Amino acid sequence: MKRRDFVKKASATAAAGAVLGGCAAVDEGPAAVQTSPRVSWRLASSFPRSLDTIYGAAEVMARRVSALTDDRFRIRVFPAGEIVPYDQVLETVQKGTLQMGHSASYYFTGLNPALAFDATVPFGMNARQLNAWMYYGEGMDLMRSVFADFNIRNYPGGNTGVQMGGWFRRQVDSVQELKGLKMRIPGLGGKVMAELGVNVQVLGGGEIYAALETGTIDATEWSGPYDDEKLGFHQVAKNYYYPGWWEPGPGLSFYINQDAWASLPSTYQAALEAACAEANVDMVASYDAKNPPALERLRQTDITLRPFSEDILEAAEEITRDLQSQEAAARPEYARILESYRAFSDASNAWLGTAENTYNSFAFRSR
Ligand code: CA
Repeated sequence: MKRRDFVKKASATAAAGAVLGGCAAVDEGPAAVQTSPRVSWRLASSFPRSLDTIYGAAEVMARRVSALTDDRFRIRVFPAGEIVPYDQVLETVQKGTLQMGHSASYYFTGLNPALAFDATVPFGMNARQLNAWMYYGEGMDLMRSVFADFNIRNYPGGNTGVQMGGWFRRQVDSVQELKGLKMRIPGLGGKVMAELGVNVQVLGGGEIYAALETGTIDATEWSGPYDDEKLGFHQVAKNYYYPGWWEPGPGLSFYINQDAWASLPSTYQAALEAACAEANVDMVASYDAKNPPALERLRQTDITLRPFSEDILEAAEEITRDLQSQEAAARPEYARILESYRAFSDASNAWLGTAENTYNSFAFRSR
């Protein structure tokens, strides 16, 4: 490369770094700048440190990026609220204030309802199916086209697996018994519950326990046994329902500012891509290892595990489909993604319902 070209390229890189606030390529000579510059990024997580598994995925990713680049590409992870609140992560990455984010895209359906498909929808795909749609179906292309409007490149970044239905102070075994129930449940699941007659409440994580204890709310959903146990809901609500049909496999995502991505050497891009994929697998494995002993500990208390009735599941599924069809009628982009999602899901259910489900039903039966 001619000296003149190098200077041009180096100053362009430095300018990009300045714009992105911290994506600094330190001048260590021509070769270093071209192939392995020192890069320092910041990532905003939508989760608190206390949710160590879901928050930890960003640290798993960052550690691997550092290891793969001889510690020259560093990503510092900030928990929700430290730089921006959990629900401003997408916009922060869009603006380039921070280069990366880790979040659940259904927090941002107010910006575009189709973002729900990047995370989960009621009665949608489980973790394994979502990965298949993302990696080998149309999922990634479709979601990338949605994220392109936000100047973001997205990667799958973990999954909690099917969540629990949550904690109910009293037994609720029919649609009739849901009427008037005061429940904390966000998102599309909340809209479906509202249609079923539930009095839906919006509360932040820190407010739920007190509201449930005093009876300000009758029920709350949260996550699975490992995360739920930490919040202590079992002390104040004794009926633990399952499954969380509104979150059958919530996928988390890494968000990367497109300009920050473009400024990376291709080897760093490859390292980042590989590290995101590792974090995606790691979170599922981690939850699958931590939830069983947590459920066992909860079983040892005075709670009762209860499956939702068929009556509730069927009514909720029908309402979900109606709400999705209404949204699709109003938004062509949503309709296109819903069509792909449903087609993939139907085909996958037919296959996984054959060998997988038959085996699981036998192997998972209570002994
Ligand atoms: Ca949940």
